[in-house]
Amino acid sequence: MNTFHLSGYPRIGAKRELKFAVEAFWKGAKSEAELQEVAAEIRRLNWATQKAAGADLLPVGDFSFYDHVLDLLCTLGAIPKRFGFDSANLSLPEYFQLARGNATQFAMEMTKWFDTNYHYIVPEWHADTEFKVNAKNLIAQIKEAKAQGYDIKPTLVGPVTLLWLGKAKDDNFKRISLLPKLLPAYAQLLRELAAEGVDWIQIDEPILSADADANWIKAVETSYKEFANTGVRIIIGTYFATVAEHLNLLKALPVHGVHIDCVRAPEQLAVFADAWPENKVLSVGLIDGRNVWRANLSKVIDTLEPVKAKLGNNLWIAPSCSLLHSPQDLAVEEKLDGEIKSWMAFAAQKLVELGVIKQALAHGKDSVKDAIAASDAAAADRATNKKIHNDAVKARVANLPKGADQRKSPFAERIKAQHAWMNLPVLPTTTIGSFPQTTEIRQARAAFKKGELSAADYDAAMKKEIAYCVEVQEKLELDVPVHGEAERNDMVEYFGEQLAGYCFTQFGWVQSYGSRCVKPPIIFGDVSRPNPMTVYWSSYAQTLTKRPMKGMLTGPVTMFKWSFVRDDIPLSEVAKQIALALNDEVLDLEKAGIKVIQIDEPAIREAMPLKKAQWDEYLAWACEAFRLSSTGAEDSTQIHTHMCYSEFNDILPAIASMDADVITIETSRSDMELLTAFGDFKYPNDIGPGVYDIHSPRVPQAKEIEHLLRKAMDVVPVERLWVNPDCGLKTRGWKETIEQLEVMMEVTKKLRSELAAK
Ligand code: GLN
Ligand code: ZN
Repeated sequence: MNTFHLSGYPRIGAKRELKFAVEAFWKGAKSEAELQEVAAEIRRLNWATQKAAGADLLPVGDFSFYDHVLDLLCTLGAIPKRFGFDSANLSLPEYFQLARGNATQFAMEMTKWFDTNYHYIVPEWHADTEFKVNAKNLIAQIKEAKAQGYDIKPTLVGPVTLLWLGKAKDDNFKRISLLPKLLPAYAQLLRELAAEGVDWIQIDEPILSADADANWIKAVETSYKEFANTGVRIIIGTYFATVAEHLNLLKALPVHGVHIDCVRAPEQLAVFADAWPENKVLSVGLIDGRNVWRANLSKVIDTLEPVKAKLGNNLWIAPSCSLLHSPQDLAVEEKLDGEIKSWMAFAAQKLVELGVIKQALAHGKDSVKDAIAASDAAAADRATNKKIHNDAVKARVANLPKGADQRKSPFAERIKAQHAWMNLPVLPTTTIGSFPQTTEIRQARAAFKKGELSAADYDAAMKKEIAYCVEVQEKLELDVPVHGEAERNDMVEYFGEQLAGYCFTQFGWVQSYGSRCVKPPIIFGDVSRPNPMTVYWSSYAQTLTKRPMKGMLTGPVTMFKWSFVRDDIPLSEVAKQIALALNDEVLDLEKAGIKVIQIDEPAIREAMPLKKAQWDEYLAWACEAFRLSSTGAEDSTQIHTHMCYSEFNDILPAIASMDADVITIETSRSDMELLTAFGDFKYPNDIGPGVYDIHSPRVPQAKEIEHLLRKAMDVVPVERLWVNPDCGLKTRGWKETIEQLEVMMEVTKKLRSELAAK
């Protein structure tokens, strides 16, 4: 038999039971014992579901109250000393304080797990970091699973990936220098698990897919040699990109197997299958662990059969990565269109698919005829269904005239045409789009959705918000006002709801961090824009002011990156379809007299492939898609873009190639470091570096903003410099927002008069 295993399952509960229990515990509305009960029930259900689907080795250690990386730090006794906690006796409230901060200590940082939207807690590494194993929580869960009668395989993040993903908190200190201290502790952990009767363990080293430097790869070799005699059989988990370049290393390591992601990197299967030693396990992930689509079972089985012929039972099957990244159970969806639903598989359905594959490998395709027939029918339907395929959309993308992605004239000419009507002062001021999303706004939206508020009343409520927002900006004398995005729940969902080709689930939640879950929209078909999406609100806002109202759209890359995307056509194609739908909106806005339009692309960096070798190709089509969204706009129409909270230094040429007339970027947190890079690169168009951090209600002092602006004036020619906050203001309250913007305006005016006097 070919072992069916998995490394992780959604842990928040099909209806977010864990989220609600954890939040109740934080509020004191649930006791620790009650919270533990909810957690145990989730684990029980998860294991039972996995077993029922035919899984042979069930994961342990994938459950977490907040984050599994934080759990491992606790297990290894490597929590930050600054909290003053005793790692050997860490209480649950203390655990949450590490993640969320307390009265004296700020929270541990978190950041996105590779290119997913899952945020892990970033380890804090110091030269004097010590490791002290305390595996009692993990062992308790192992005992719990065994008591329920299951064969298990604990999953842990590997030592090298753990070090690499942490941050060095001391100067002149290298994270990798902790390896000699970490390895004995990690080996001890493995021995303690062996003593518990653990046979197999999966140790994930996604660092292997991430272009890490040679010394880190060397550290992988060192580590697994050290673990050779710990009494457990190790399978190294890799995912999200190919690891074919490490084939020889992986073959030679004294481990019992390797898992490879053949959804993200199908080409590596042949490389591994040809060369893999017969006495080692090769686990092949051909079921997509991080998307919502049903697999083509027949194809998957056909792909696996020759590998089985070669490796026999040493071929294992699994999802491509932990199912943590996919929604839990399609069966609970009540409102999804039946046809669209028939093309999908969430975590529970993916398990069933793996069960079918296992059965087919053991007893032939005929033994699973019905399942294959259903899968074939779904695939055939998806290939032709008119809900997915819109010939007009496809033709529009295919027949784009040469140069369709270019503005009519180069920036130097456009900006003259823009200045001619905009009448901007030196150092023009603007904001990034959203203004406070107050409780009243959210209540009005919720009531409208439930049918408790009429369309007319909702319309009036939003107009009132917009009018207030414009009035505030008038008083502040902001040069390019915005309408404030009151009508938007979310910058992707708002557009997804109005575009053809998108659909929404009721319970398709995925953990983002801690108790926070997101429910990404799903792009299932060709995307087009049946009706204008923003023209109504932007035009209304324009009637309230003589200043140029800035329209606000979400760019093509951000639109797909924060959604689940169809897997039947290339991503570049999806991006271009979205771009053309946005282009319809740009041209309609222009027609309606909105001649400053911002197309946000905060996700352009995070959508980059993990492998550097694929960056150029990605950036070429991503930037082309951005340009396509404003194709045909007049020279006098000013296109803005906005980016934030990412490393942009290494993609500046690509950002410049997007050719937005103005880019606003978040910079204040790093004291304008990013802007220096823009300056060195000689970014050719207008720039608005963020002059204050929008994450805090604190009102910045004038001298702080002045310091940042003067720094900006040193690197960017003053005639191309804008003044704005770091990002949108939707999470702030009105009072602080007005006070913050007042300081921004005061400083700007001071510098303007200084410049005028020169
Ligand atoms: N226009 C959006 C806003 O202001 C941009 C948000 C973002 O960059 N994430 O809210
Ligand atoms: Zn932003």
